[in-house]
Amino acid sequence: MNELRCKVLIIGGGPGGYVAAIRAGQLGLDTILVEADRLGGTCLNVGCIPSKALIHAAGAAHALREPRALNAIGLELGPPRLDFAKTVGWKDSIVARLTGGVGVLLKKAKVRTLLGMATIIDGKTAIVRSDTGESRIAAEHLVIASGSEPTPLPALKFGGDVLSSTDALALTEVPETLAVVGAGYIGMELGQAFAKLGVKVTIVEALPKILPLYDSELTQPVARRLADLEVETLVGVRALSFNKGSLRVEADGKERAIPADKVLVAVGRRPRTAGFGLETLDLAMSGPFVRIDDQCATSMRNVWAIGDVTGEPMLAHRAMAQGEMVAELVAGEKRAFDNKAIPAICFTDPEIVAVGLSPEAARAARSEIRVGHFPFRANGRAMTLQDDEGFVRVVARADNHVVLGIHAVGHGVSELSSAFSLALEMGARLEDIALTIHAHPTMSEAFNEAALAALSHALHI
Ligand code: FAD
Ligand code: NAD
Repeated sequence: MNELRCKVLIIGGGPGGYVAAIRAGQLGLDTILVEADRLGGTCLNVGCIPSKALIHAAGAAHALREPRALNAIGLELGPPRLDFAKTVGWKDSIVARLTGGVGVLLKKAKVRTLLGMATIIDGKTAIVRSDTGESRIAAEHLVIASGSEPTPLPALKFGGDVLSSTDALALTEVPETLAVVGAGYIGMELGQAFAKLGVKVTIVEALPKILPLYDSELTQPVARRLADLEVETLVGVRALSFNKGSLRVEADGKERAIPADKVLVAVGRRPRTAGFGLETLDLAMSGPFVRIDDQCATSMRNVWAIGDVTGEPMLAHRAMAQGEMVAELVAGEKRAFDNKAIPAICFTDPEIVAVGLSPEAARAARSEIRVGHFPFRANGRAMTLQDDEGFVRVVARADNHVVLGIHAVGHGVSELSSAFSLALEMGARLEDIALTIHAHPTMSEAFNEAALAALSHALHI
C-alpha cells in the first residue's frame, strides 16, 4: 500500500471540495483531493451545468417550434428539426470543458488529486482504493465534501423508466410523455425544458403549490408559463406507483392514472453519509446531515464538513464559499460563514431570484416594513427582448430603510442576482439603490425603480 501524508485531505471533488482544494493549494497547504467518480461532482457533471445547457437548448427549440415571438419581429421560418443526439453532444462538451478545467486549476494550485473511493479510518486517516491500487493517507485536517444524491421514493424506485435527475440528463432520446414527481427546483426546471422540447409533461406535487420554497407572487408567472406550454400541473397530489406507461396518483381519496413513457422523480436530495466510514467518526448530526458550526467545523477537532452533506440550502455557490473559507481557516486566517444572504435562483421560464427575506418573513421578523415593486411591463429593455413578464421586488425596514430582501421573476433575471446580493451584503438602504445610476436600457433599471417605489416615488410607472 502507498503511504501518503498531507496537511489537508479533502474527500469529494464537487464544487465544495475542489474549491477548498484550490484555495488550500494557493495558500501553500500540502493538499490531497480524493474523488470517487468525476471531478466537478454533481454540479458540473449531472447538475447545474448540464441542466442549464438542456434548458438553453430547449428554449431555442421552443422559440422555433412556437415562432409567435419570431414572427412578431418579422422572422418567418420553416418547420424545425431537433437532432437530440447533437444537443446531448453539445451539453457533454461543455461538461468536459469545465471538468477538464477543474483538473488544470488543481494542478496549477499543486494539489495532488487521487481518483478513487476514500474510506475514512479515523479523523486523520483514510484509505483510497482505485484501479491502480491502494493508498493510505495521513492528514492533519480532514474535509468531508461528499455531497448528496437523489432521494428515491419507496414506491417509485429509480431504474427502467423511473428516472432520477441524473438519468433524465443522460437521456439520448426525447420521450413522448413524461410525468414529473415533485415541483421543486429540479422538477420545474427540467419539466419545463422537456415540455419545450415537445414532450407532453405532467407535474405532480404533493404540497398545495408549485415551488413551495418561493412565495406565490414569485411563482405565479411560472405557473402561467406552464399553462402556455400545456404542462398539466397537479398540486396536492401523491404519486402511488408506476406500471407499464401509467403513473397512478391520488388526491382527496380519488385515484387517477397519468400516461407517461418516463417518470422523473425529483423529490429532493439526501446527503451522502454512508458507505465510506463516516460513521466511525461518530460526528454530531443535524438530522441526516453532518452538523457544522459557523466555520464548518464538525464536532471533531480538525474535521470539517462543507456543501450538500451539511444541509440546506444545497447550492453549489454555498458549497464553494464554505470550501474557500475552510481552506483559509486551516491556513490560520480568521474567517466565519457570516454572509447576510445566499442567493437562490430557479432557472425556470421565467427565472426566479430570491436574496434575503420575503415580505412575509420580514413582516414576521419586524412589524414595519416597506415593499416596492416594479413590473417589467414598464421596462423598455424587457419589451425589446420580447419578454416583459415579471417584476423586481425590494423589501426594507420602514424605520431606517435598510434592505432586507430582494426578489425578481422574469426573463434572464438570474444575472441581476449579483447586484441584489451585493446590496444586501453591503447593508444598502433603499436610498443607496435609488440613487445609484442604473444603465439604460437594462432590466436592472427595474431594481432601481423598485427601490424608488418603496420610497413612494417610482418614476416610470
Ligand atoms: P457534490 O457536487 O455532490 O460532490 C460531491 C463529490 O464527492 C462527488 O463527486 C462524489 O463522487 C464525491 N464523493 C462522495 N463520497 C466520496 C468518497 N468516499 N470518496 C471520494 N469521493 C467521494 N446548485 C446551484 O447552486 N445552482 C444550480 O443551478 C443547480 N442546479 C442543479 C441541478 C441539478 C439537476 C442537480 C441535481 C443539482 C443542482 N444544484 C444546483 C445543486 C448542486 O449541484 C449542489 O449543491 C452541489 O453540487 C453541491 O456540491 P458538493 O461539493 O457539496 O457535492
Ligand atoms: P426540492 O426540495 O427543490 O423539491 C422537491 C419537491 O418535491 C418539493 O416541492 C416537495 O414538496 C415535492 N415532493 C416531496 N415528496 C413528494 C411526493 N411523494 N410526491 C410529490 N411531490 C413530492 O428538490 P429537488 O427538486 O429534487 O432538488 C434537490 C436540490 O437540488 C434542491 O433542494 C436544490 O438545493 C438543488 N437544486 C438547485 C437548483 C438551482 O439552484 N437552480 C436546481 C436544481 C436543484
